[in-house]
Amino acid sequence: RARRLGARHAFAPDTGADLDISDQWDLEMQLGTAIERGEMLLAYQPKVSASTLQPVGAEALMRWNSGTRGAISPDVFIPVAERIGHIKKLTVWALNTSLRHASQWTVPCGRPSVSVNIPGVLATQPDLPELVEDALRLWGDGVQLVLEITEGSLMDAAVAFPILQRVRAMGVQISIDDFGTGYSCLSYFRNIPADELKIDRSFVTGLLTDPAYADIIRFVVDLAHRFGLSVAAEGVEDEATSDRLRELGCDVLQGFLFGRPVPNAEVQAWLTAQQPVFVARG
Ligand code: C2E
Ligand code: MG
Ligand code: MG
Ligand code: MG
Repeated sequence: RARRLGARHAFAPDTGADLDISDQWDLEMQLGTAIERGEMLLAYQPKVSASTLQPVGAEALMRWNSGTRGAISPDVFIPVAERIGHIKKLTVWALNTSLRHASQWTVPCGRPSVSVNIPGVLATQPDLPELVEDALRLWGDGVQLVLEITEGSLMDAAVAFPILQRVRAMGVQISIDDFGTGYSCLSYFRNIPADELKIDRSFVTGLLTDPAYADIIRFVVDLAHRFGLSVAAEGVEDEATSDRLRELGCDVLQGFLFGRPVPNAEVQAWLTAQQPVFVARG
């Protein structure tokens, strides 16, 4: 077990591939009070405009720096939190914390946006609009809030759509995360309460090697734009892929090429470094 005690770097977290039963139990025990112990953190990954390559804001990604196991990936603890009923508490914390942080950021153009991931179980809960409203009332000044909801969690459209519509009525944008992986039916486009489609990383990764991906992305961009949605691409790791996505008409880009997830203390330095420097004329 010694291997588990070596703290992992918060941004190269434990993927949990080798969790055994007692680890799982341990994890569940500690998850409930992780916020109080100051072990939950948000890392921010920049999003840039595809046309100017300037920052528009960032996505908040949760990190658990557990006292006993080191850093644990959200892919491990979010499903656990959903199962044992802690997900609402974590999401409310993420909403409030990220809005508070983002209210201090500045971007070259307009208001900074902050994107918060909303788990599927909350997308169908009627009190989601109230949770969002409370957070906005406290910290929402001058920030564009975006909620990222995975395509797969919108299967029950009859329940989820009216809830998301209420959230949008408060000026919050909805982004459909991991788009292309959740079997969405094309009739969704008729009335989907969303502002952005975020194309899944798997399409972006395959773009330069398989021409089919370019066709798919072109089709999605076309369809999205016809219905007034913008298109973001996640997982952009190299310049050639970035150039291709811009040619294909994507609106927003995100990925290690532009920036890795960083602590809030480092976000503004990044945002500022990407802004054009205007030299004062004498
Ligand atoms: P996601 O929302 O699709 O986030 C994108 C994931 O891809 C992040 O992993 C990010 O670090 C990673 N990524 C970004 N750019 C690149 C790239 O260029 N290359 C590669 N290989 N990876 C990239 P992370 O932070 O481990 O998060 C994984 C997933 O956990 C997220 O997927 C999201 O579904 C979930 N998650 C993260 N934070 C939260 C949260 O606060 N609440 C909820 N409910 N889920 C969260
Ligand atoms: Mg996301
Ligand atoms: Mg995503
Ligand atoms: Mg993803």
